[in-house]
Amino acid sequence: MTAIFLCWSSFAWPHADHDPGLRGVYKGMPEGDLLVIYPKDDLRNFRHQPQDDWLTYNKPLDDPFHALITFHFHDGKLSQWRLNDRSEVIKEYLGEFCYYQDPDVIYQAVRNVLQRMPYKDFLNVTNRQRPVLFTEFYDSGTARFASSSEFIMTKEDPPCCKEGFTIVKLGMGLGLSRTPGPIEAVVAHELAHRVLDSIRKGKVDCDAERASNRLIRKWGFAKEFKEASRLFGQKKGDPAACQELRN
Ligand SMILES: [Zn+2]
Repeated sequence: MTAIFLCWSSFAWPHADHDPGLRGVYKGMPEGDLLVIYPKDDLRNFRHQPQDDWLTYNKPLDDPFHALITFHFHDGKLSQWRLNDRSEVIKEYLGEFCYYQDPDVIYQAVRNVLQRMPYKDFLNVTNRQRPVLFTEFYDSGTARFASSSEFIMTKEDPPCCKEGFTIVKLGMGLGLSRTPGPIEAVVAHELAHRVLDSIRKGKVDCDAERASNRLIRKWGFAKEFKEASRLFGQKKGDPAACQELRN
């Protein structure tokens, strides 16, 4: 029994020090030395604070068990690394690709959906070669007529958008919801279009709307979907409305 258990455990969870993907990586190593092993151009996401840097890469080298690896540097020295740390990666991702913070309830909803959706779909929609950009969309006030955003790439930034990008415009009217739940359904619906690739496949009809709604229920957003329908649902007779089929 014990022998089998040990055998299994060493197979499933190789000790980090013996992980071939981390050859040459050690606590305290200077950031510049790590960048020789993990080049900056391969970065997936990153986050900078005055004394701290987080760098996330796709696939730890030679490691078949994990999709992502995040290195944390304090004062330029490697302090730790984590595998598949989704909440950190979301912080990094939204810092770069989410173009507003207010109202906070919308930002929270975006973060929650990225946290809750299936992992492979999360990796798909946060792929920096085809990222999803979250932007504001005003339907009242002076900004409803026009507004501009500027996307800046510095020489520090790893390459992005080789395969284009998706823009998800979140109406400020969503802020009418006091809780993130109904907004999560709206965000998940838009991300489901992206996962299904509706727009690139030219599917922009009511069937595509229903397919997206079916997918978010599969993801576990059935309750939020109901709340959203009550709060933001289109009225009968609205020419743009797609009624859900009864079956
Ligand atoms: Zn839709």
